[in-house]
Amino acid sequence: MTYVVTDNCIRCKYMDCVEVCPVDCFYEGENMLVINPSECIDCGVCEPECPAEAILPDTESGLEQWLELNAKYSAEWPNLTTKKDAPADADAMRGEENKLEKYFSPEPGEGD
Ligand code: SF4
Ligand code: SF4
Repeated sequence: MTYVVTDNCIRCKYMDCVEVCPVDCFYEGENMLVINPSECIDCGVCEPECPAEAILPDTESGLEQWLELNAKYSAEWPNLTTKKDAPADADAMRGEENKLEKYFSPEPGEGD
């Protein structure tokens, strides 16, 4: 089992999650973060910290696509362990539907 970052992180990217992860397993893309499923120790402390409620346990149904996306991009994007400023329009983007189709970027973020 692991936790995964899902749709609502895209263009919200508040980054509260990285501050609490004991094993620093968040990786930064241009407009979202992902969790490395093989590094996550399933502690669950990041889940309630996410203002966008974007972090879910992979035991919930229908998350196969997100598990795959987290695994793929955590291998390509840089590690992030320190919170930075969220995008200026993060609150406005919160809760919008189908962000993956509309806004996902495969480009890496800057990391730490
Ligand atoms: S706190 Fe939530 S919205 Fe913010 S970067 Fe982490 S997963 Fe994404
Ligand atoms: S569940 Fe724990 S180990 Fe996994 S990403 Fe969240 S804080 Fe890190």
